[in-house]
Amino acid sequence: MKLLIKNGRLIDPAAGVDRAMDLLVENGKVKEIARSIKKAPGVQAIDAKEMVVSPGFIDLHVHLREPGQENKESIASGSLAAAHGGFTSVACMANTEPVNDNRSVTEYIIARARQVGLVNIFPVAAVSRGQLGENIVEMADLVEGGAVAFSDDGHCVMKADLIRKALEYAKMLGVPIIEHPEDHSISGEGQVNEGFISYKYGLRGILKAAEEVIVARDLILQERCQSRLHLTHISTAGSVELIRNARRQKTPVSSDATPHHLLLNEELIQTYNTVYKVKPPLRTEADRQELIRGLQDGTIDCIASDHAPHTRDDKDKEFEYAPFGVIGMETSFPVIHDRLVRSRLITIRRLVELFSTNPARALGLQDRGRVKPGLPADLTILNLKKRFKIEEKDFRSKANNCPFLGWEGHGAIEHTIVSGNVVYSRKAR
Ligand SMILES: [Zn+2]
Repeated sequence: MKLLIKNGRLIDPAAGVDRAMDLLVENGKVKEIARSIKKAPGVQAIDAKEMVVSPGFIDLHVHLREPGQENKESIASGSLAAAHGGFTSVACMANTEPVNDNRSVTEYIIARARQVGLVNIFPVAAVSRGQLGENIVEMADLVEGGAVAFSDDGHCVMKADLIRKALEYAKMLGVPIIEHPEDHSISGEGQVNEGFISYKYGLRGILKAAEEVIVARDLILQERCQSRLHLTHISTAGSVELIRNARRQKTPVSSDATPHHLLLNEELIQTYNTVYKVKPPLRTEADRQELIRGLQDGTIDCIASDHAPHTRDDKDKEFEYAPFGVIGMETSFPVIHDRLVRSRLITIRRLVELFSTNPARALGLQDRGRVKPGLPADLTILNLKKRFKIEEKDFRSKANNCPFLGWEGHGAIEHTIVSGNVVYSRKAR
């Protein structure tokens, strides 16, 4: 089993590489990287001329809905969506039914992912039993079972003492805690960002402080024990400033922003379209600009989709009753590439860091997020010049709650390669 990728521009920020390189893959692993590798007879070859070869993309925040809500998404459909979006690895959140708060659920997810056999799926286990925020899970047992991180995502861990203990255990186990920062006593039944738009349209608001008080609290607790904390779906300028200060102290904190918070703002709520109902809510243009500054100066080091599939019926409800969330794995790369790289707000190298190098570090996946002989050949090949149009008919996800439908621009996934297997190739049209 050999695969030769020729004439591509290899960008591997972890190794400081950005140059034309050929890559030989053998038995699922990178075998050789060199300026020119001759194609031996019988070796499958991919011509990556004028394309970027990146370490495989990693989405560290997705909801695959299995077990329990396979009508919204499944490990099979979610894996197809991941491969289509260029993701060779995804970390799936624990708010399934049942909750992934014990080893049998973690092992089920891993076994299903193996049967499907498309992309690497890394389960994130809950912090608290049933995600009820009261009792801590058996963290060591879950890590043994294959959990790579802990998060009550969907909810915030509201008890400071519980998150403190979880951070300390996580440090001993060498895994991160992923926090969904939202003080529920502040956000309550809020629907959208609190401000001019929420007042004008009579929708209940969510203060930015709901997020920022938890970011501040977790940074204080984390600084004490120096355990790895990842703050997910950061949405406010205030949170960016808090994280920026923490990172100046060289404390091991990482964070992500989603494509929808980076590219959309609360003005869209005026359409009353429930596809713009997300948590945290879309914020102001000033917040959005600060998130982009956070990407530029290294404060925010990952992009994650928070892929949250819902059925059409779920999202078709009145604004107040519709669930929060949008899908994202299949659109993250094209929209971010077109709107941030092509407009020169970030470089393509920075995009690779945000989509691969840094998510691998945040999750502690030492053999992912880089391209090196001996490591698994997880690669994403990018065609930066190819035009895209986001259309529902192309989605592999079961869901269609996408806020970027109709968007056009440049940048497409050409191939997604997991352990040397081509799991997605763009069909020439
Ligand atoms: Zn969340």
